[in-house]
Amino acid sequence: MSSERSSATLHLARVGGRARVHPWIYRGEIAGFEGAPEPGGLVAVADGAGAFVGHGFYNPRTSLACRILSRRDEPIDAAWFAGRIGEAVAYRRSRGLAGEAHRLVWSEGDGLPGLVIDRYGDDVVVVQCLTLGMSGALPWIAAGIRATLGDLAIYVSDDPAAARIEGFEPRRAWLDRAGPDAVTVGEGSARFVVRFGLGHKSGFYLDQAENRLRVARWAAGRSVLDAFSYTGAFAVHALAAGAERAVCVESSPEALAGAAANLELNGLGGRAELREANAFDELRRLERARARFGLVILDPPPFTRRKAAVDAAARGYKEINLRAMRLLEVGGMLATFSCSHHVSAALFAEVCRAAAEDAGVTLRTLEALTQSRDHPVLLTVPETRYLKGLLLERL
Ligand code: SAH
Repeated sequence: MSSERSSATLHLARVGGRARVHPWIYRGEIAGFEGAPEPGGLVAVADGAGAFVGHGFYNPRTSLACRILSRRDEPIDAAWFAGRIGEAVAYRRSRGLAGEAHRLVWSEGDGLPGLVIDRYGDDVVVVQCLTLGMSGALPWIAAGIRATLGDLAIYVSDDPAAARIEGFEPRRAWLDRAGPDAVTVGEGSARFVVRFGLGHKSGFYLDQAENRLRVARWAAGRSVLDAFSYTGAFAVHALAAGAERAVCVESSPEALAGAAANLELNGLGGRAELREANAFDELRRLERARARFGLVILDPPPFTRRKAAVDAAARGYKEINLRAMRLLEVGGMLATFSCSHHVSAALFAEVCRAAAEDAGVTLRTLEALTQSRDHPVLLTVPETRYLKGLLLERL
């Protein structure tokens, strides 16, 4: 691990502006360095007039070269991480957001750019490092977590795509001692099995927790299509709220096995059907078969991680939304989502509008949806909001 003191000073070209309220510094904004910055190490940041801006982790490989951690001149160490994690815990406790499973640290949204921590019950946290600096700081992070929350088991589940860009080896393993293979957590009145360490398909989509409960309010008496279902969490809530039946469509057999387990756990297996399929193909097939649903959920994975591929992503969103709209009975509801960072809420709404036009379907917007409140959004860091959704009703 690098030192808790900055090894060099990064000089910004300009004074004032975004750097005062946003933690990201791009390579093009850097005028030069004093000293030799270490890859993944701490640098002090100074503005164009030489005034101290903060301390941040530096990466020479990426165009997003530095993310500011603190705007005070202080050491960044285990005690510092414990302090920030403690603030994240306090926010969630005071707003009633500390459910059995919740996101405990949301990167920039909690003043910890590049770090995500999810809590699963009393015994487990899952840590995700998104930057080289955070990856190197794992011992401080672990000490900070345990100083704040007690001696939990820590599963490290780095994002391989981020690791490749940042230049570190992604970890997928228990940190220093093994925790349980799985835990059971409550969300609303339902219970879910969350597995760890089963390769890529592990964990739980906490960002949709509030939307699952919101969408379920409309489910009674309806037949439900849960497309891109993962472990069936939308379907479980819809059935528990009185939906007649649910069809889950998912391409991963491991995820579908999790869906089967969750449906059984909640006594709902009899009213659900699990289909291992490519949702694009299955939506097309259902359309040909003239199937109709009273509630369709579309919660696909990100269709792009790059700005350059936004057009292709928009075509993908248009296609699945168009088909889903054609499957709606009159009075039917569509809950449709995009978690692509580079697809804005305005673009997503426009894509859905264009899909409705092509489908010849009139839809009323009942609600605009976003990520659960345990993924806080900073006004000055718009990138902290990534999940966009619309709840639509077919007229
Ligand atoms: N709604 C879920 C989360 C969905 S995540 C929940 O609330 O828990 C997106 C899911 O889509 C992942 O499980 C992924 O395996 C699946 N997926 C990705 N591409 C797919 C495709 N083409 N067809 C079907 N499922 C797909």
